Amino acid sequence: MSGPSLRDEELERYDRQMRIPGFGIEGQRKLKSARVLVAGLGGLGCPASMYLAAAGIGKLVLVDREKVELSNLNRQILYWSSDVGRPKAEVVAEKLARLNPNVDVEALALEINEDNVRELVKKVDVVVDGMDNYKARFLINEACVAYGKPFVHAAIYGLEGQLFTVLPGKGPCLRCIIPSQPPEQDTVPVLGATPGVMAALEVMEVVKLVVGLGRPCVDKLLVFDGHEMKFHEIRVEPSPKCPVCSSLRSREVPPT
Ligand SMILES: [Zn+2]
Repeated sequence: MSGPSLRDEELERYDRQMRIPGFGIEGQRKLKSARVLVAGLGGLGCPASMYLAAAGIGKLVLVDREKVELSNLNRQILYWSSDVGRPKAEVVAEKLARLNPNVDVEALALEINEDNVRELVKKVDVVVDGMDNYKARFLINEACVAYGKPFVHAAIYGLEGQLFTVLPGKGPCLRCIIPSQPPEQDTVPVLGATPGVMAALEVMEVVKLVVGLGRPCVDKLLVFDGHEMKFHEIRVEPSPKCPVCSSLRSREVPPT
């Protein structure tokens, strides 16, 4: 058996997920030992951190420097009308503690940048993408590759989303499939349900990775089209020219 023991209250709380074949008490103990970073507490980060807390992740590190705005409320479901003007990190810490007091929540009101990204990534087991820009995503991707940490990426636009998991050394990284920073809009259109769908998929990836269930989304970009209610898969491969991870792979080639 690995991981800390579970109290009666936890056995009851997580009963339904522990019944999943291959999950069990063992899987729940692994979740309790896990440390997950949620980078960004917006449309993706709010539902992702709720599902992660509800699932019983032992430690959640939540990062966002912004304050709640009225225009956030159509999709950032941890913030309610009375929270407008409050720091997101503070609100999230308070609400998640009410959702699941077993979870150790560290909420940081700061911006992820070149100076702090490695420290943040180093101390967790998995990183969840809740960002709204590729500059920050590329920084996180680089740190995750450097420390060998899984990075579960999602992005959304309107009724569309995409999902991809970086497992350093075991598949492409984000820069292999998106080599340069795409043009970005300041204000993207989005229906709240879209990041809800994509955040749920991100959490499914995290739980699978921690517990050891199924296969992660490492060799394909999963694209969700809410207009047509379809998922598409785009095959992806490591790029030999990737500035972030190609050197990692060349080190792993066995001597001939
Ligand atoms: Zn790469």
